[in-house]
Amino acid sequence: MDNQITYPYIDTFLHALQPPEDAFLRELEALSRKEDVPSAVRTTARLLHLLVGLKKPVRILEIGTAIGYSALTMYLGSGKKAQIVTIEKDEERFLMARNHFRSYGALQNIKPICGDAEEILSTLTGPFDMVFIDAAKSASRRYFDMALSLAAPDALIVTDNVLYGGRTAREGEPEHKHRTGVKAMQEYLDYLCHDERFFTAVLPVGDGVAITMLQP
Ligand code: SAM
Repeated sequence: MDNQITYPYIDTFLHALQPPEDAFLRELEALSRKEDVPSAVRTTARLLHLLVGLKKPVRILEIGTAIGYSALTMYLGSGKKAQIVTIEKDEERFLMARNHFRSYGALQNIKPICGDAEEILSTLTGPFDMVFIDAAKSASRRYFDMALSLAAPDALIVTDNVLYGGRTAREGEPEHKHRTGVKAMQEYLDYLCHDERFFTAVLPVGDGVAITMLQP
């Protein structure tokens, strides 16, 4: 199933409308396509940049670095001010991301960590003002719960891929190979939208983005 969240002509239009302004980010975007590494799509990257610009987080936690595209996007969105900790379990991607942060002169601000997110999260110290969850879909709820204990009371927690190509919203039994991921995302969204500790907006941007704040 192709992405069934928006109409293809809308995706094409928005993709052409908003390329990354930064030349290095455009290179990373092309590299992730060439190497077939998943990175945030342009609409999601724009949203992240905007959220960081509005929220002005001092510390950001990212779960799922890939080759560093979204971390650098958030770094730029913060006016190159935020301190970002980003976790990636794949060593090759971690090394590529670290090289990219170094080439961009951002290693003072962006600290990449190689390892399994759940193991690393249990070793970190908060508070983080913003969290971006973008790793294994079926583990998003566990990442969220662990990130909660590291989050500042006014933190923003952003989760990517919550609509999973549209599968999360479809009625009926999901295809066998997607069943675990779909069920996990359905339960996760139910939790984010109905637990009285949170307030969540789910947006049909990119692969679906949930933006959660903690209720005062
Ligand atoms: N945030 C990146 C961006 O937009 O540029 C894209 C991240 S990609 C969608 C998801 C990444 O999460 C992959 O590189 C994958 O290796 C990593 N990942 C998956 N499971 C993980 C885990 N348990 N711990 C740490 N990283 C994990």
